[in-house]
Amino acid sequence: AQIIQADFVKSSVRTEDCPSDGLPEFALVGRSNVGKSSLLNSIVRRKKLALTSKKPGKTQLINHFRVNDSWYLVDLPGYGYASAPQELRMDWAKFTKDYFLNRSTLVSVFLLIDASIPARKIDLEYAAWLGENKIPMTLIFTKCDKRKKKKNGGKRPEDNVNDFQELIRGSFETVPPWIMTSNVTHQGRDEILLHMAQLRNY
Ligand code: GDP
Repeated sequence: AQIIQADFVKSSVRTEDCPSDGLPEFALVGRSNVGKSSLLNSIVRRKKLALTSKKPGKTQLINHFRVNDSWYLVDLPGYGYASAPQELRMDWAKFTKDYFLNRSTLVSVFLLIDASIPARKIDLEYAAWLGENKIPMTLIFTKCDKRKKKKNGGKRPEDNVNDFQELIRGSFETVPPWIMTSNVTHQGRDEILLHMAQLRNY
């Protein structure tokens, strides 16, 4: 599943403005600083494909990247900016929820979770919302190379991954697929591509 070509196509403000050619797509979303840009670039083996500005206010866009002229990778705004005004945070939530509920070509949401820290409330809530609304989801655990630290409760990435899955179990009928990744060791990169290829062929 080697990626040959990936091109930025467009940024959309609303779901209705997204590309209308019907190609299947995968949306990447996660808390700010989870490693989303790094992962996106690692998947397509580019240094700087992700154009999403990290400044709150400039991130309210749905960014489409077309891969091999046959499917899309979609970069969604990160959530959980501590510094963003409440009003703006509500806006993001509304806008991404509308996309999740109404984008018919969306194959799976790839929810990025930092495996180097214990489960965060906002991530658990996000996952639960997707589960309760029956939006297909894949859990992508990031930073799995990071060693345990005392201040993080002394837990290993594997422990945090297990804890997270345990905590969201009640919101899902079946356990969502999950992949452990690292942009340092490139763990999980091929697995993600393979998983996407399998989902596209359903
Ligand atoms: P974004 O805000 O979600 O787009 O996150 P970035 O891709 O900009 O990454 C945020 C920070 O985490 C940066 O300092 C990255 O170098 C670091 N980072 C991203 N992925 C990994 C990873 O797999 N392992 C480690 N150790 N650090 C990572």
